[in-house]
Amino acid sequence: MIELEGLTKRYGEKVAVDNLTFTVRPGIVTGFLGPNGAGKSTTMRMILGLDHPTAGDVRIDGTHYDRLQDPLTYIGALLEAKGVHPGRSAYNHLLWLAQSNGIPERRVREVLGEVGLTAVARKKAKGFSLGMGQRLGIAAALLGDPRILMFDEPVNGLDPEGIHWIRTLMKSLAEQGRTVFVSSHLMSEMALTADHLVVIGQGRLLADTSMAEFIERNSRSYVRVRSPQREALLDALHQAGVTAVDGADGTLEVDGTPAEKIGELAARNGVVLHELSPQQASLEEAFMQLTAESVEYHAHTGAPLPPQQQWGESWRKG
Ligand code: ADP
Ligand code: MG
Repeated sequence: MIELEGLTKRYGEKVAVDNLTFTVRPGIVTGFLGPNGAGKSTTMRMILGLDHPTAGDVRIDGTHYDRLQDPLTYIGALLEAKGVHPGRSAYNHLLWLAQSNGIPERRVREVLGEVGLTAVARKKAKGFSLGMGQRLGIAAALLGDPRILMFDEPVNGLDPEGIHWIRTLMKSLAEQGRTVFVSSHLMSEMALTADHLVVIGQGRLLADTSMAEFIERNSRSYVRVRSPQREALLDALHQAGVTAVDGADGTLEVDGTPAEKIGELAARNGVVLHELSPQQASLEEAFMQLTAESVEYHAHTGAPLPPQQQWGESWRKG
C-alpha cells in the first residue's frame, strides 16, 4: 500500500505537485494518469524518497522509504530516466543492485529470464534498444520480489509486442496480490490496463475512481441525426418526449433513445433523414475534458500567470 497525504512539491514559484491525498491499494493495477507536466514523475520520485516533499507525507506500508531496510524488497520501481551504467552488462547491473540489497545472485538470473533478457545478459547496456532498456528496468524493479511495484510511463516508445508484454505483466503482478502503480499520459493505455484510476492535472487531484465507474460515468452514448427538415424533426422528437441537443455542423444529438425509434418516429412524421448514427464518446475525450484546464495552462507557460493562479489553493491558504 502507498499512502499520500497532502503531498506537495514546489520548485521555486512552480507547484509541481499540489496537495495530493490518495491511497494505492494491493491486488489491482492503479493507473496514474495526467497530461505531460502534470506532476506524475515528481510524485513517484517523492514516493521513493528521491525528492523531498515541500509539504505533506508519503508512506510505503506505513513507513517512509528511507526507513525501509533493503528497500528493493518492499518496492520496485521503473522511473523515466534509466540509471544504468552504459558500460555495464545487464547481468552486472542487476548483480550490483542485488548485492546492495541482500538479494541472492540466483534471483538475478530469475528476473533476467522473466523479462526475456537471458540471451543478452552479458552484453553491455549501451547497445540495448529502448525496449531492451525498459525490460532491464523492469527486471531491476522485480529483483527484490517486492509487494509494491511502480512504473513511470513504462510503454513509452515500445513496439506493440513490448506494450502487450508489459500490460500482461502488470496484470499478473496485481493478480498475485501486489500493489501496482503505473503512470501514463494516455487514457487509451490506461483503459486497457488499470482497475483503478488516479487522474491529476497541474499537480492536483482530479479523479480517484474505479475504471469501471469512470467508464460508466464518461462513456456517453448517443445518436447523431442529420436532417434537411431540422425544425420538423425537432417538433416530432419533442412531441414524443425525446430530448435532442445541438451537435456539430447542424446535426442533432439524441441521448437515451435507440436509433430505430428515432428512424421510425421520423418516418411516421414524413421527415427525411440524411444521417442516423449511434455514437460512443471515447474515454480519451472524457480525459481531455477533465484535464483541459491544465493543458491550457501549459499552452500559456510562455507568459507567466499571476501568482494566485500559479499557486492556487496553497496561495490562498498561505
Ligand atoms: P509528468 O511526469 O506528469 O509529466 P513532472 O512531474 O515531470 O510531470 O513535472 C511536473 C512539473 O514540474 C512540470 O511543470 C515540470 O516542468 C516541473 N519540474 C519537474 N522537475 C523539476 C525540477 N527539478 N525543477 C523545476 N521544475 C521541475
Ligand atoms: Mg513524467
